[in-house]
Amino acid sequence: MKILVTGAAGFIGSHYVRTMLDGGYPGYEDAEVTVLDKLTYAGNLNNLPIGHPRLTFVEGDILDAALLADHLPGHEAIVHFAAESHVDRSLPGAAEFVRTNVLGTQSLLDAALRSDVQTFVHVSTDEVYGSIEEGAWTEDWPLQPNSPYAAAKAGSDLIARAYARTHGLDVRITRCSNNYGTHQHPEKLIPLFVTNLLSGKPVPLYGDGRNVREWLHVDDHCRAIQLVLTGGRPGEIYNVGGGTELTNRVVTERLLELCDADWSMVRHVEDRKGHDLRYALDDTKIRTELGYEPRWTFETGIRDVVAWYRDNPVWWKPLVTA
Ligand code: NAD
Repeated sequence: MKILVTGAAGFIGSHYVRTMLDGGYPGYEDAEVTVLDKLTYAGNLNNLPIGHPRLTFVEGDILDAALLADHLPGHEAIVHFAAESHVDRSLPGAAEFVRTNVLGTQSLLDAALRSDVQTFVHVSTDEVYGSIEEGAWTEDWPLQPNSPYAAAKAGSDLIARAYARTHGLDVRITRCSNNYGTHQHPEKLIPLFVTNLLSGKPVPLYGDGRNVREWLHVDDHCRAIQLVLTGGRPGEIYNVGGGTELTNRVVTERLLELCDADWSMVRHVEDRKGHDLRYALDDTKIRTELGYEPRWTFETGIRDVVAWYRDNPVWWKPLVTA
């Protein structure tokens, strides 16, 4: 069994690959993994067990058709994480998001069609649905993305769906809520706040902090992706929720406590343009069809994550700008 994983020098993909190589996914203990990653600012080779006998690392762009034609043959599945992933960067720089997330996904789908790849798991996000005041999104909810990041991810979902319908490619799409975990770049909310507080620096809270996100431990997310790869149905979309809805204010409060700090360390900054108020997923489908259930509570997970950043400044200090 050979699997090609894109974007796995980043946060979530690297967790997936480390877990697979550690034998964490039943039936895949002997799987050979090829990671294809462009190593943008978000890609970090320290996230991967380079030198592992079942890991091959290829540095390259998912838009490079010749590179894909060279490397895809022989792989049974693609798990596609590669993307520009930070909403804030997409506001002034949407072009790179459209390039990588939309055109890059289309390039990879094309290459998959021309190879013997059997299954293509496309990793997407709840942000494609927009913002919801009450209730929760099911998979058939209309796509109403608000940021250029979310719009580019929605575009990638649609092109992936089109390849399934038009060409009969076995594409499965996952849409998950906000992930947290170790090895996440310190530009994202939780690691930004933790690394700032551990460095004695203040943290920037957007607006009044009432935006609600549903937090999902990266390990639960990756297990869900593996369930979709092994048991999901071709052409289907699966929401993956974490079940813990929290305002950014409550998350901030918890991080302050865990880092022995108080509200004097919080700076209220002007809200993000078009900031979605609330995300909430209905993930009944993956729970009933594939037996998915999150294993991590936010309380246990966040303690573990803060401890990891405390113990691993060597990992994050080079990534932090002054
Ligand atoms: P990340 O930014 O940490 O990692 C992205 C990786 O993709 C990096 O290693 C980068 O070098 C690589 N990459 C970027 N452009 C590339 C290109 N053109 N060719 C090859 N590689 C390229 O992202 P993440 O947080 O690990 O997210 C992974 C996936 O999960 C993304 O598709 C993202 O949209 C999705 N997602 C993330 C979250 C979250 O909370 N982080 C939530 C929902 C969905």
